[in-house]
Amino acid sequence: MNQEARGQSSGARDPGPTESPSPDLPPPASGFADLHLHSSFSDGTYSPEELVSHAARHGLAAIALTDHDTVEGCERAGLACKAAGLEFISGTELTAEQNGNELHILGYFVDIRNSRLLSDLAEFQAVRHKRIHEMVARLNELNVPLEAEAVFALANCRSPGRPHVARALVNAGVCGSMDEAFDRFLKKNRPAWAPKMKISAQVAIDLIHRAGGLAVMAHPGLNRSDHEIPGLVKAGLDGIECFHTKHSSSTSEHYLQLAAQFHLLVTGGSDCHGLSKGKPLIGTVKLPYENVARLKARVASRGSRTPPAVGGD
Ligand code: AMP
Ligand code: ZN
Ligand code: FE
Ligand code: FE
Repeated sequence: MNQEARGQSSGARDPGPTESPSPDLPPPASGFADLHLHSSFSDGTYSPEELVSHAARHGLAAIALTDHDTVEGCERAGLACKAAGLEFISGTELTAEQNGNELHILGYFVDIRNSRLLSDLAEFQAVRHKRIHEMVARLNELNVPLEAEAVFALANCRSPGRPHVARALVNAGVCGSMDEAFDRFLKKNRPAWAPKMKISAQVAIDLIHRAGGLAVMAHPGLNRSDHEIPGLVKAGLDGIECFHTKHSSSTSEHYLQLAAQFHLLVTGGSDCHGLSKGKPLIGTVKLPYENVARLKARVASRGSRTPPAVGGD
């Protein structure tokens, strides 16, 4: 679904012809950002460089890479953005829960070399590997002859997930499509689904904060967990993803109102995982750059250091 995100108060502003560039100030940033992208370092199909070239083609001013449980692709995405003249924000997407409700927490501007972050991500990745083994064992019990090694070979990354199992089922001819694989086997409570170990939202938010990042509730419209928002705010949540591929305009408006009510920063992104119905989603959800500027101001006000530069000087 195509949608152009509207800003909290105003859309992207043109610098205007009367404003002359000052040597002391960075050039006025405008345009749009897509702050939710997955690469082949998790369950996306594009390499970081391919994502950046799509972003450049869409004329985006900034992007964030938000692979599940990894920041590995950020270095390469940062370098490619630098070469293409785009701003890059390091990120990741963590799966968490609060009161039994699954929530995805995006971490932005995290220091991709933070040792605690890296060791915790490595643990989450180990859990993902174990879960793949569990799902493959369930498939085998259903007489589907899939091998875990085939899934890992296809995933070819440290952070494999259900979409890789789905693709392996399609490649093996067991299912005609990823959707069929999810519907028949992999969705929650389907016969090959295995529960996922989830950290608490508080642990996710603290991990992101300790790595210098901002914690943002991803695609709240998909989780139907509005009642958890006050608790998340108490836990230190910084922002909420108001604009997302699967949010209708009224859903986005609803979360903009909640963002204002709870003084949360506003983010948005396509959640592009590669081709979706023949087209990449990247750039189809456009966050006005002024929201990125607010995120940067918040990070800068948090600590002595500015947002960690990735692939920069
Ligand atoms: P996991 O983190 O391993 O539980 O996998 C969750 C991922 O599966 C999310 O990124 C979703 O985008 C993806 N997903 C969920 N349903 C489908 C589907 N029907 N087709 C493709 N991907 C899906
Ligand atoms: Zn995903
Ligand atoms: Fe998600
Ligand atoms: Fe995502």
